[in-house]
Amino acid sequence: MKTYQRIPGDESFRDSISTVDQQGRRNFLFPKKPKGKLYNKRTIASIIYLVVFFSMPFIKVEGEPLFLFNVIERKFIFFGQIFWPQDFFIFAIGFLTFIVFVILFTVVFGRVFCGWACPQTVFMEMVFRKIEYWLDGDSSAQKRLHEMPWNGFKIRKRAVKITVFYALSFLIGNFALSYIIGMDNVLLMIHDGVGAHPVTFSALIGFTTVFFFVFYWFREQACLVVCPYGRLQGVLLDRKSMVVAYDYVRGEPRGKVQKGTAAEDLGDCIDCAACVRVCPTGIDIRNGTQLECTNCTACIDACDAIMVSLQRMEGLIRIDSEENIARGQKKLWNSRTKGYTALLGVLIGVLVTLLVTRTDVDATVLRTPGQIFQTQPDGRLSNIYTIKFANKTRKDLPMTLKLENMSGEIQVVGNALVAPRESYAQSPFFVKLKRKQIERRKTPIVIGVYQGKKRIKTVETTFFGPGY
Ligand code: SF4
Ligand code: SF4
Repeated sequence: MKTYQRIPGDESFRDSISTVDQQGRRNFLFPKKPKGKLYNKRTIASIIYLVVFFSMPFIKVEGEPLFLFNVIERKFIFFGQIFWPQDFFIFAIGFLTFIVFVILFTVVFGRVFCGWACPQTVFMEMVFRKIEYWLDGDSSAQKRLHEMPWNGFKIRKRAVKITVFYALSFLIGNFALSYIIGMDNVLLMIHDGVGAHPVTFSALIGFTTVFFFVFYWFREQACLVVCPYGRLQGVLLDRKSMVVAYDYVRGEPRGKVQKGTAAEDLGDCIDCAACVRVCPTGIDIRNGTQLECTNCTACIDACDAIMVSLQRMEGLIRIDSEENIARGQKKLWNSRTKGYTALLGVLIGVLVTLLVTRTDVDATVLRTPGQIFQTQPDGRLSNIYTIKFANKTRKDLPMTLKLENMSGEIQVVGNALVAPRESYAQSPFFVKLKRKQIERRKTPIVIGVYQGKKRIKTVETTFFGPGY
């Protein structure tokens, strides 16, 4: 097996990042426009992603959005299902499941989410960066524009870019807002004008400005210094994790064939730096897995193009594990990968089961405070209770109550018992029992709460009697 010797002195990547210079100032990156099979696949994936992002706020289920995260009114809708504060435990379990899922997924499959599905990366690399290439040209043209003194040409270029970026950020801000307050409210706000909704409009301008700042200036720094998931990579990845990796066994010693050097003395890496030039976070993947790598796969495409032009095998940079590369093996599935993937399947199953078995109506029965028993004109004894409903559906639901463990009458006070749509309600009711059924001061009773013929809840409580 070939051994890899790092070139002495080439260690600066360990204690510095390429986006900050020696004086601590921001080093702007001008990555070369990627092209290749994986970039094409990312483009297709991001088109689907964007279509979903921009169309979902318009999709409705029974008059409500498909997704809503209204933290202000504590109303959450997932796949058309309304979730209430009572469903908090599903959120808690769902959130824990999600965290475990993310950890296991990252341990096995690395940061594929970052490069392919994270909204920051999708909008930055597949929307704003593409527009930037279109407006300002490829890497070298952008660098020239950046370095040139301010003149009419540069002012015009910058003005166009700022206008386009801000307009796009405003559009994204509107859609982001629609996931919080609903598209109907956003359209209403547009219809009524800014003056009618100053608070919402201020929030919208806030969103827009943050998006603009991130996509125009902050860029890869969001992944490097803000994103907690990115910061966790150091503890989540290990030698078996599948990541974008350079095959140093095959590639080293790197170098161009020169006079006096035999081609067979060198590895496959010709040290052309094409992989570095396309990297949106400015790293050299040949230094190994680094915190900055978002697994965007642009370097794979760049290196494959070089390998094809040299008539060498593709995949000098590829998605692989450090262990596979070191051992020269091509094992995609090891026992840990299989085990973790099975566990991920189980976690998803748990979450789906929780969602599917969630009830539409929650009911609680409480004894009315300060009341004991009353004697009815017919000699029966009665206790008064209150039933509280939380109807999570979009329909008014007629409800009925039944005594489950003994005969007796339940009489609802007022009109028929109805749980009104998407709201809380409460209603008092009497339980009437014959005197002979009461053998002690507190008789256990069981009340069934029915929605139509379906019993949605069984409540155990007590019936106060005089005591014998
Ligand atoms: S090293 Fe490669 S995969 Fe990682 S961020 Fe740079 S270009 Fe993307
Ligand atoms: S693109 Fe490939 S050949 Fe060129 S420097 Fe990077 S790893 Fe080496």
